[in-house]
Amino acid sequence: MPDGITSSLASAPEQHSTGEIGNKDDAENGSNDASVRNAQKAFMYTSWPSKPRSEWTRAQRFIAFLDVLPNFPGKKAAPIKKKDDPVPVWTFWQQHAHTLPWAVAPVLMHWSYMKFTGATLHPIAAYVLYTAAYNGLSVWSTQKVNKFAMKYGFLDGNAPRDGVPDDKDWHILSEVLKVVLLRPLIGLFLIYDRNELPSVTWLVPVKLFLWSITLDFWFYWYHRAMHEVPALWKYHKTHHMTKHPSSLLSAFADTEQEIFDAYIVPFLTYLVMLNLGPLSVTYAEAFICIQYVITAESGGHSGARIYASSPCNSIILRPLGMELDLEDHDLHHRHGWKHYGGNYGKQTRLWDVIFGTSKPRIETVDKNIDWSWKVSLP
Ligand SMILES: [Zn+2]
Ligand SMILES: [Zn+2]
Repeated sequence: MPDGITSSLASAPEQHSTGEIGNKDDAENGSNDASVRNAQKAFMYTSWPSKPRSEWTRAQRFIAFLDVLPNFPGKKAAPIKKKDDPVPVWTFWQQHAHTLPWAVAPVLMHWSYMKFTGATLHPIAAYVLYTAAYNGLSVWSTQKVNKFAMKYGFLDGNAPRDGVPDDKDWHILSEVLKVVLLRPLIGLFLIYDRNELPSVTWLVPVKLFLWSITLDFWFYWYHRAMHEVPALWKYHKTHHMTKHPSSLLSAFADTEQEIFDAYIVPFLTYLVMLNLGPLSVTYAEAFICIQYVITAESGGHSGARIYASSPCNSIILRPLGMELDLEDHDLHHRHGWKHYGGNYGKQTRLWDVIFGTSKPRIETVDKNIDWSWKVSLP
């Protein structure tokens, strides 16, 4: 690594922690300011994947083992597409088929255990069961969207995708572990009752829709506040160091941001759902909702050049132009710095449209989407 980059890398976090990088240009057209871009590039500097395996740290070996990084050396490179090339679709039913087994399997196991043994499931056993399914889907979703990207190309394909920076391997791994091990806890604390047989009603599709738009309402305002309130930006800047993220980097964030993502926003969502009478959620239903959130989040950070919109809400929101597509959050990263001003939703575009912060898509626009071209694994 050149010396200049080394010193820039060393100083980038401090520069950013004050929130002083960026100027009016940056505010108006994304991070076009050269000093911002150079500091970001230095911060994300990655060389370890092309070094001999014997030089990798344990964290790097584990990350390589997960098989979730794009354009890893030794693998076939992703095709580079033009911005107006046709775009395939990860369909509504394909996404249900991807997510639903991981959402329903632990519920069925839990139900069967209680029904046929007459015993109850201790909260620690419930934690292990549901967290295993949550982790399984997290890894499977991340691998799958990465495979889609390697087959169909990346958005903004001429720009390389960010990997795990050399000196952030432990940071990212620890954030990933926090996400996958701690996120499922909140439901256990709030809703789980070991004496209750797990139940899912026929209203679950409506609840999935309501959960996704409610979660997104709270997420929208907290996310927008982090961009617009100077005192909060410092808790979000690490997440924006990646301009071309991959799914693993969805967990690349400051701990303060992660606490909001994992606890505060789901808690506020639960409070709203609690007061919806027959539409309030059981523990099993909340878990199903959370599994769909994971699929959407890993897709939104993958950069895969496909059209994919949450099956929880797209049927209703797409005709209104308010559904979130995979490209929306990618654009939020590509152009977003302190005052990007848009695409704050992570499950829908509902609140972005209503509050006037929705940004135009570039590649997954209607004229490019080929609805007859379904994605498939390589
Ligand atoms: Zn942001
Ligand atoms: Zn993000």
